[in-house]
Amino acid sequence: MTAELMNGKAFAKEWNLKTAKLAEEFFNRFKIKPKLVAIIVGDDPASAIYVGSKERACKKFGLESEVIKFDKDIKTKVLLEKIEKLNKDKAVNGILVQQPLPSQIDLDLVVESIAPEKDVDGFHPSSLGKLLIGQKCLLPCTPRGIIQIMKKYEVPIKGKNTVVIGRSVIVGKPIALLLLQEHATVTICHSRTENLPEVASSADILVCAIGKPAMIDSSYVKKDAVVIDVGVNRVSRNDAWKDLLKPESRTALDFEKKGYTIVGDVDFPDVVQKAGLITPVPGGIGPLTIAMLLRNTIDAANMQMQL
Ligand code: NDP
Repeated sequence: MTAELMNGKAFAKEWNLKTAKLAEEFFNRFKIKPKLVAIIVGDDPASAIYVGSKERACKKFGLESEVIKFDKDIKTKVLLEKIEKLNKDKAVNGILVQQPLPSQIDLDLVVESIAPEKDVDGFHPSSLGKLLIGQKCLLPCTPRGIIQIMKKYEVPIKGKNTVVIGRSVIVGKPIALLLLQEHATVTICHSRTENLPEVASSADILVCAIGKPAMIDSSYVKKDAVVIDVGVNRVSRNDAWKDLLKPESRTALDFEKKGYTIVGDVDFPDVVQKAGLITPVPGGIGPLTIAMLLRNTIDAANMQMQL
């Protein structure tokens, strides 16, 4: 028996149709579209691709979007002044600053300068603090997507033993808090955790947000567990672990065409034989992040209109 797949691509499509309806309702009520502004600094090609996808998704589902580009050498002050203007602009409902930023920019100052009510990435200390104490706030997009897809697949969370591997501010910590809100018993693991396979294989729900290609094999997984693979790792033909792949796989085709492929943190061919439910990479958690960003923008717009 192999695990059932949690299809993030299909779920994102369904979620985005509802988002488009909400955007239309907002427009009918207020005669303006919810607006997202994305700021990009420098010419990192991956950032340009991510921001491009966000912009296209906004257009497709009825949101207004604007991309503001800055030269890679700008000073923090210039960015802060721009964000201050956007904070005051009533036509702007959501602001995001695409990461990574060049090293001369003070990331903490930039994140803190975004008005919390427009913080659609959910990274502001105020948003994260509210999440910690269980108050309503804009949630970080990837963790919000993980909870939503688990609900879609009716994964029981209450009382379940849940292990999150990874303690970053954008994925590991917020997903652990959201699982706790859903009444799971939560363990957070990281690079210093001892006996990781033993701890991970006690989990009914295992969330992997590590950034290490195919690190989690079946020895980390309890039989019939729910496995959520957040990792997005670009691996090239020359990486040693390619031997894990079957020649007829998608990965082999990608190597042939592009010289690289994207894999998760989970050794999918191995773990799929043992898990009960699993998210693939690509097509699992990835598509949900932008879907949640659009919904956060609409939520932010509605909250601002009520103020
Ligand atoms: P970070 O690098 O910020 O955090 C990685 C975490 O994994 C750290 O807490 C680190 O521990 C832990 N870790 C690293 N190596 C090990 C190890 N050998 N054993 C146990 N724990 C380990 O990464 P992010 O949280 O930002 O991202 C994680 C992955 O998710 C990446 O592949 C990223 O690309 C992907 N991602 C995908 C998204 C999506 O839309 N699908 C969105 C965001 C991220 P320590 O703290 O001790 O260093």
